[in-house]
Amino acid sequence: MTQAQRIDGKAFAAGMTARIAAEVTALRDAAGVEPGLAVVLVGQDPASQVYVGAKHRATVAAGMRSFEHRLPAETSQTVLLDLIGQLNADPNVHGILVQLPLPAHLDASALIAAIDPSKDVDGFHVINAGRLATGQDAMVPCTPLGCLFLLQDHLGDLSGLHAVIVGRSNIVGKPMAQLLLAANCTVTIAHSKSRNLAALCRTADILIAAVGRPEMVRGDWIKPGATVIDVGINRIPDGDGTRLVGDVAFAEAGHAGAITPVPGGVGPMTIACLLQNTLTAFRRKLAAEA
Ligand code: NDP
Repeated sequence: MTQAQRIDGKAFAAGMTARIAAEVTALRDAAGVEPGLAVVLVGQDPASQVYVGAKHRATVAAGMRSFEHRLPAETSQTVLLDLIGQLNADPNVHGILVQLPLPAHLDASALIAAIDPSKDVDGFHVINAGRLATGQDAMVPCTPLGCLFLLQDHLGDLSGLHAVIVGRSNIVGKPMAQLLLAANCTVTIAHSKSRNLAALCRTADILIAAVGRPEMVRGDWIKPGATVIDVGINRIPDGDGTRLVGDVAFAEAGHAGAITPVPGGVGPMTIACLLQNTLTAFRRKLAAEA
């Protein structure tokens, strides 16, 4: 088996984070203020606790202010709407993120709609989704933005390439399609009702798997030389413990041109792009006040 190039998202994200930290320092020296990111976590979901902890550490390491709001699972919609209102009005907060998933009694769409779109660093607000879809400046969802950066770094110009995205969620698949369309790819979006999925994937120059099914994309779904971005994060049993795998059967993908590993591929890029979006929100606010 040939060996696909490993796209090192961890190293790329570390470089991005270092550049962001240097910019934050320069802006603080010039303007006397620094970007602030508020993260709202409701309940005790173990994966969310890990993600929120990682976001906090990365924010502080980049020289930004981190405001964590960890609330009990039974917190009401009204209390959360009040908190989002306070964060919208707080001049020290430039980015607001409500960690998903939320407990079932909460209406995530209504909460996201309450976030000031200029502080919506997750890019989930309909204003930002609409701006992205219509080619206007938008806050872009962090995970697909990170995938785009990795693709452009690896392939350069993406014009004319056929990208197949498996998954059509609002947070990964759909914004990924918009970004690749804007980068002049020919885009196919596949989902659970798509027919002949393996054959469809074999036509891809760029294959993006964002499904949430461990190793669903097999080696013979991948065209030789294709660039594969594996967004999936799935924990599976392994001996007495567990391990993380992606949505792509990594061991069968040696004939790909390049592939992101799980872990160490897309995951670290998501956090680096969150910092990038917070810095962008901060810069736009400074520019608006100038
Ligand atoms: P969702 O569950 O919201 O969406 C999954 C998508 O996959 C849906 O569009 C669904 O189709 C499609 N799908 C499910 N089963 C199949 C199938 N058998 N064949 C074809 N398509 C299928 O997931 P997310 O988009 O939120 O996340 C996807 C994966 O990415 C997860 O593993 C998640 O953990 C990971 N993730 C990783 C991040 C990172 O930082 N690396 C960040 C965000 C997510 P349909 O619409 O028809 O139901």
